[in-house]
Amino acid sequence: MDLKKLAKTLIPDENLLPLEEYEKMYPPRNLPKGAEVTRLAPSPTGFIHLGNLYSALADERIAHTTGGVFYLRIEDTDEKRKVEGAVESVIRSLKYFNINFDEGAEIDSPLNSYGPYYQRQRASIYRAFAKDLIERGLAYPCFCTEEELNAVREEQTANKEITGYYGKYAKCRNLSEEEIYLNLSAGKPFVIRLKSHGSTANKLTFRDRIKGEITVTQNDQDVVILKSDGIPTYHFAHAIDDHFMRTTLVIRGEEWLSSLPVHIELFEVLGFPMPAYGHTCSLMKVDGGTKRKLSKRKDPELSLDYYRKDGYYPVAVVKYLMTILNSNFEEWERKNPAADYTQFKFTIEKMGKSGALFDLDKLNDISKNELSKLSPEEMYGFLYSWVNEFGTQADMEHFKDRDYIIAVLNLIMGVGGKKRRKDIERASQGVRMIDYFFDDTFSPDYSFRFDGQTVKGIISSFAEVYDPADDNSAWFAKVKGVAAAHGFAAEMSEYKANPENYKGSVADVAEILRIAVTGMANSPDLCTIMGILGKDRSLKRLAAAMES
Ligand code: GLU
Repeated sequence: MDLKKLAKTLIPDENLLPLEEYEKMYPPRNLPKGAEVTRLAPSPTGFIHLGNLYSALADERIAHTTGGVFYLRIEDTDEKRKVEGAVESVIRSLKYFNINFDEGAEIDSPLNSYGPYYQRQRASIYRAFAKDLIERGLAYPCFCTEEELNAVREEQTANKEITGYYGKYAKCRNLSEEEIYLNLSAGKPFVIRLKSHGSTANKLTFRDRIKGEITVTQNDQDVVILKSDGIPTYHFAHAIDDHFMRTTLVIRGEEWLSSLPVHIELFEVLGFPMPAYGHTCSLMKVDGGTKRKLSKRKDPELSLDYYRKDGYYPVAVVKYLMTILNSNFEEWERKNPAADYTQFKFTIEKMGKSGALFDLDKLNDISKNELSKLSPEEMYGFLYSWVNEFGTQADMEHFKDRDYIIAVLNLIMGVGGKKRRKDIERASQGVRMIDYFFDDTFSPDYSFRFDGQTVKGIISSFAEVYDPADDNSAWFAKVKGVAAAHGFAAEMSEYKANPENYKGSVADVAEILRIAVTGMANSPDLCTIMGILGKDRSLKRLAAAMES
């Protein structure tokens, strides 16, 4: 068969360069020894999830701790699944988590000399290499229709055989020159398939940078390399791109392990050295006592938007992911509590080999802890940026009064106390926590544990003596005075010794006042709260509670 003629007939493109030209166009990168070039290669489907962030963090850390490059490549070969704005969304979502690309699609960088970074714009490179494979008898056109392929699959399933296009099932592999040209002149659509030379009888050992040494079965499938629209499949495109973009390490999900034999063969026939691969394990969660993979359908926490909308502190999410990525991160953190996580020596070899358990409770604990380290001014900035994007109109108004909110945060965060309080977990919850400091969002729950008359008596006596100039101890002395005047023990010790002599204790009196002012039975220091609210507002709240 005249393979040169066949290649030219199947791929008549005029703009293809001799293959060596591509090698010259994309020369090996000039990087120090040991520097890793990694990439994130998402399909622009608009759904960027925690799994992407998890591998992007590993990619970014490895590239940046070795003095390498981390780039963004868009795998947009499937036009149907493409979503407008998806690329910007990937960049923005990752930036929120402090993950920045050095190079790639939509990245303004002087390093961008390995592009284009959209696969659709690289069609001629793929086609040049497919053409070469045809010329060398390593690829061929296949005219099988969807129905024919389905029929083969059914037959294979019925015979309990491996499904796919291989061996005797690879019908078009043996078409004669005449048959091929007949099909072409009949205008039949075709795909280009790899002519595999492998056999499932052969085993290969492969060193995965995460999973260690693994044994895989050699590929014997004549996989599609160019689809009928002339666009490559993932298998073919990624091999060419990772070679010419000079990727040294591919980190991707373990769902790709089953295609690894195909990739090994593709790199072989293309004559490219293979980059190193690390297959990450899937993120799992415990659900009803059993472990299962996080699912797009069932678990909102898989979507990265969830964290932004809920106002998670990005550093906390990153630190949490670091704890599941590298088992020694937590210990390092304990020893270096003040250090930035980027100082940690991340290593791919320490990544888990099997199912990583995602635990939202643990993330929440880390989040509280990280947020407790902020200054009230930083906390204001963090909450405000969330309010700007996701807050209500009322939140927007409240946040105009920066000094007032910072005074509230000083209190809520326990600034100046022995230990910082860790009550704020996320912006969405932190912003609601301060609602009672504003009249328009104050929605009290007047669940007093004493009868109306007692409550009124206490509140009214306190309102009479309240003086915002009092310090904490003067304030409390007045509460004690009110307690004694209404039959409550002014000292806890007196109450404990003879509870039957009293209606209750000073603690009960303080609770009544607390409910009256904050609308809740639990709050930070009430004297300070009243100081922040100011005399008028405090007295109004006391009066309103008496009316309730
Ligand atoms: N486009 C592939 C995906 O989104 C990328 C896999 C890879 O990183 O090679 O799953």
